[in-house]
Amino acid sequence: MATTHKTRMLIIGSGPAGLSAAIYGARAGMQPIVVQGLQPGGQLTITTDVENYPGFRDVIQGPWLMQEMQAQAEHVGTRMMWDTILDVTMDGSPFRATGDSGDVYEGDVLVIATGAQAKWLGVPGEQELSGKGVSACATCDGFFYRGKKVVVIGGGNTAVEEALYLTNHSTDVTLIHRRDSLRAEKILQDRLHAHPNVKVLWNQKVDCFVSEDGKGLTGVKLIDTVTGEQSIEQTDGAFVAIGHAPATELFKGKLELDDSGYIVVEPGTPKTAIPGVFACGDVMDHTYRQAVTAAGTGCMAALDAERFLADLDYKATQTVDA
Ligand code: FAD
Ligand code: NAP
Repeated sequence: MATTHKTRMLIIGSGPAGLSAAIYGARAGMQPIVVQGLQPGGQLTITTDVENYPGFRDVIQGPWLMQEMQAQAEHVGTRMMWDTILDVTMDGSPFRATGDSGDVYEGDVLVIATGAQAKWLGVPGEQELSGKGVSACATCDGFFYRGKKVVVIGGGNTAVEEALYLTNHSTDVTLIHRRDSLRAEKILQDRLHAHPNVKVLWNQKVDCFVSEDGKGLTGVKLIDTVTGEQSIEQTDGAFVAIGHAPATELFKGKLELDDSGYIVVEPGTPKTAIPGVFACGDVMDHTYRQAVTAAGTGCMAALDAERFLADLDYKATQTVDA
């Protein structure tokens, strides 16, 4: 039977933003509920080495970091829910969210920390060959390509990291990028160019994914963006790493979104236009999109939520007195 779970602070999303909001919220006595969604721990659970999260001299593993964050959040009193929110009502506090399970979550404040999802190219063969040679996660699937040839599509940090990660399994890694320069940080670019098993194909657009045997991926058809020349790059695996889109479908028509779909907040704060609704992490940040910035804005959301509730409580006492 469906249950209604009530809390002072309802958090949707269990990445660094949601869990940081939970840690601060729990310590402030808001007894947060975190609804985890389909990717408990968020995007860092699909990567390996993390070496830019402060506090750790040595390289740490993304999934481990997220397990620790969750344990910390639970230790201070957060309730974690295995559910995915399908609908939200944000007419005013309390805010209501309905889960895939049928359960309803009610919070006096709502913190949105739904992050972002991998983008796909949307070219022929991509969906059909997904799981049969086409993937969006080298950490998850790289192991299956031991000793085989792989390509990575994209030019940002994710693409370069995926390419470098794949060198653990493959001695033949090709990065395919649509321009003639990478967007990735310089340190990653230097590592990529220094690696003997990685080559880069510049100015190449993927036209389609090819399966010659009708069973699995055998190649990628490319078009040179400068000359228009077409070619086929033979490969056993293709990893699409072209970025992520904010997970804001739930909030369309309810909250203001920018042209790229990110939640619009009051500059420098996690406040949305609806009092008591806060957005933090990648879902509202198309510039930085880092674990540490997501954690930082999660903290800000909790502090602002606490102030909002204190104000709400004060107004309630004034009403009673009057
Ligand atoms: P996310 O981590 O995206 O988490 C979103 C959460 O929301 C998930 O738990 C999801 O299940 C949940 N959710 C979504 N929709 C719903 C719903 N309807 N109902 C309930 N829950 C929902 N950053 C770094 O600082 N260092 C790195 O080394 C680094 N490496 C990266 C490697 C890869 C491959 C990728 C993809 C990203 C990397 N990043 C790195 C970026 C970093 O992971 C993100 O900036 C960070 O995870 C954003 O945190 P978040 O909490 O905002 O969102
Ligand atoms: P990103 O920075 O947005 O880069 C996306 C890349 O894919 C760009 O090079 C882009 O090309 C290319 N691209 C986009 N659409 C394409 C299409 N349709 N066809 C072909 N190529 C396409 O995304 P990201 O690399 O996933 O990084 C996202 C965020 O996470 C960033 O803020 C990043 O810093 C962060 N991150 C950090 C780390 C780290 O700190 N170690 C690791 C991973 C990710 P153009 O360059 O031509 O636009």
